[in-house]
Amino acid sequence: MAVLRVVRLGAKVLRTRAAEVETSDLKRGRLKPFFEDLTETMIEYNGTGLAAPQVSQPLRVVLYAIHPESRGKGLEVPPTILVNPTFEILDPTEIEDFEACLSVPFLAAKVPRPRKVRVQALDRSGRPLDFVAEDFHARVVLHESDHLDGTVYLDRVRDRASIRYTIDY
Ligand SMILES: [Zn+2]
Repeated sequence: MAVLRVVRLGAKVLRTRAAEVETSDLKRGRLKPFFEDLTETMIEYNGTGLAAPQVSQPLRVVLYAIHPESRGKGLEVPPTILVNPTFEILDPTEIEDFEACLSVPFLAAKVPRPRKVRVQALDRSGRPLDFVAEDFHARVVLHESDHLDGTVYLDRVRDRASIRYTIDY
């Protein structure tokens, strides 16, 4: 396994639509080493999530994990790979809350996101996933999946006065 380099805003790959992954590639395990590297990288960088374009792989793959003591209010999601994710908004009520991104270091800002979405995707073995994500879980999945369309959270910030540094000098 290897820790991959996380690219930052300005890298072309972050502004490019990522390509669909073939189910047959998942079933044959061809992306398994990449999934392992992606997981190691997310842990090394202490991120909640990581999308493949952030490590210069223009593929529709995201990884995330939610720890029970984090902002998920007790929700625990083990490291989860979503391939070719799509969404259906179940509750369009927009919730504004802070987001940050490994590709936009040292910043955070309030981003509006729908409260509840249905997520359909393939798992790391090519099996279909279909689940409902709410609140912080929905926010994480939508933030990571935005990366697959060349969008970063700053693009969605409405309250620009909320943009702030997360470090002290
Ligand atoms: Zn991000």
